[in-house]
Amino acid sequence: MTQPQDILFLTDRPNGGPAADLDILYPGRVVRLDFTSEAHDLSVLARYATVITMVSAGANVAKLDYAAITEYARGGGRVLSCLLEYAHNRGLHFSKTHVLDRMLPGMRIEVANDITRGYAVGDTLWWYGTVSGAPEEIYDNQALQRQVMGVWEGSGVTVLGTSTVNGGAVMVEERVGEGRILALDLLSLNRPYFNSKGATNKYLFLGNLMGQGVRYGRHFPERLTYDSFVDLMRATAARYEELRLVEEGPASDGRPMWSLRLGDPTRPTVYLGAAVHGWEWENAYGLLRLAEVLCEEPNVEGLDTRRFHYIIVPVQNPWGFDHFTRQNGHGVDLNRNFDCAWEPATAGQDVLVPWDYNYNGSRPASERETQVMQGLIDRYRPVCLIDFHTADYIMLRAHRGDRALFDAIQADVKARMKDRHLVQQPYGGAYQQVNLERATDTTPAQPYLICYAAERGCATAFLLEMSGNRTDMHAIVINTDTVVEICLAAVKQTLAGLGEGRS
Ligand SMILES: [Zn+2]
Repeated sequence: MTQPQDILFLTDRPNGGPAADLDILYPGRVVRLDFTSEAHDLSVLARYATVITMVSAGANVAKLDYAAITEYARGGGRVLSCLLEYAHNRGLHFSKTHVLDRMLPGMRIEVANDITRGYAVGDTLWWYGTVSGAPEEIYDNQALQRQVMGVWEGSGVTVLGTSTVNGGAVMVEERVGEGRILALDLLSLNRPYFNSKGATNKYLFLGNLMGQGVRYGRHFPERLTYDSFVDLMRATAARYEELRLVEEGPASDGRPMWSLRLGDPTRPTVYLGAAVHGWEWENAYGLLRLAEVLCEEPNVEGLDTRRFHYIIVPVQNPWGFDHFTRQNGHGVDLNRNFDCAWEPATAGQDVLVPWDYNYNGSRPASERETQVMQGLIDRYRPVCLIDFHTADYIMLRAHRGDRALFDAIQADVKARMKDRHLVQQPYGGAYQQVNLERATDTTPAQPYLICYAAERGCATAFLLEMSGNRTDMHAIVINTDTVVEICLAAVKQTLAGLGEGRS
């Protein structure tokens, strides 16, 4: 018995192409049907809330009953169609374009609506596959992208995204009756490999179409240097009267560290930090996006977010942020340098020197960045602290704190992120949802930021490993979306904890 949220994947390769990805994204909800041999008239289609069509072999295109699919959409159904069958049935010219010389085809967003949520008009994202199917950039010199040429807009038809290669339509929305068809090139794209520029967002617009996609994430077009990122923080603070850019003291390279502050400092403080390992840079954008959300919607999700004072330090390691290193400018791993159970290091190396992995410095809090962060914790005694890192999606609890509150936050994060985004873990890892199902303890105390905060009474200090360290901005919508959701879950559950008199 199918449920209203069920998805029909109508294809001539039921076990190929995106079948595996869809099963991971929407477990137990995808029904695969081979349209070349099985009935797919309106009575079949009407059992599903979403229909995805993918004709892999062009010779089969006439076997797909597109009249029935259009009729299904007219009655309120949601359809995502690959471009060949859409073009074929609308009498449009279909184009499949190979580009050489490592030009990477993209899609320019032409309309801001619920389907393109996360992007603004004019934003460009990579959208292509490689002929070899290989993820590595070295093989990107033969990239391909499909388009539909000469789309006439009007009577419900809108081009949402155009090709940077030839201006053709890569994403078309057609409103028919009560429903709509989203025509989108999914076939060119490889699986969304960890760092695949062309395919990272392959299922993002499908999620948006289903109302299960981006909620808070947004695209940032450029990977910025630290100084430019601070300029962006300054510009953001200038847009909102209540948001303050505060200089927190010098980093190891002499440049100032900056926070964004929001709310009344006499209220309980929530501390949110990122990029203490400089190369884990994406989360800085997520925290900037959070500041925007809290300013634009102080009562977001009905939460009284103004009951907290926020200290947001998007870049806790400016030198490492610029140089794509884990360590600061002195070769110190700042998240091993806190004055909490610090001991002279004995690593698995003949001698331990700066720039060694996890090099923890010459003494506790030897580094200026560490001193700045410790100073903020000493002064404001945050009730909640989140330190965002990137690796492989896991939540790490400090060695002490309010376990029930942490569990409530994790449950909230899991509920929010369910069936939302698909990622591949780094180092050739498995595909999975972005769901933060894994949590672990750090025991015993470590010279980590979260442990330092926990020792000073922070009820929930935790470290989040996201997916990141990518080579460019291609995953930033998913990242910012996830960071904001996690922060809001923490705010919501900490508020609830305060309401129950928990301290
Ligand atoms: Zn890290």
